[in-house]
Amino acid sequence: MFGYLTDALADLLFGMTGLYGQWRTERFFFDAVTTEIRWVLRRPDETNVVLSIHRLQDLAVSLGLPDGAGELEWRSTHSRAELVHAVLRAAEEVLERHGEEGYRELWQAHPFPMAGLQDLRRLHSRHDACAEHAEPPRPAATAA
Ligand SMILES: [Zn+2]
Repeated sequence: MFGYLTDALADLLFGMTGLYGQWRTERFFFDAVTTEIRWVLRRPDETNVVLSIHRLQDLAVSLGLPDGAGELEWRSTHSRAELVHAVLRAAEEVLERHGEEGYRELWQAHPFPMAGLQDLRRLHSRHDACAEHAEPPRPAATAA
């Protein structure tokens, strides 16, 4: 299980948000209580993402170590649209199931990362042309 002091869902959403920025590589980690679970998102081109997950022992010292110092647990390649869509759906399901208050009770240290969810949804909708995550149309101005 993950440490309760880290804001894992917010870190995940923020890491995905980075896929729309200028950097080719994003890194963030989960604290699995003394073990670092490091996510590395690398963009070989404009549309694809190589996701690698490394497990590094001893979080007290691992943050300064290169990815290769840990065990590679997972590697897969996805289109950015597909990967971000899946992450958004997972976060939305958590929100639907627990609500903001329920999430706070469960996770305690951190509220549900609503701003992070909305930022990522907006970027995904705008750049990946996802119909399911399309931004709602602006309400029509009411005639006076
Ligand atoms: Zn989508």
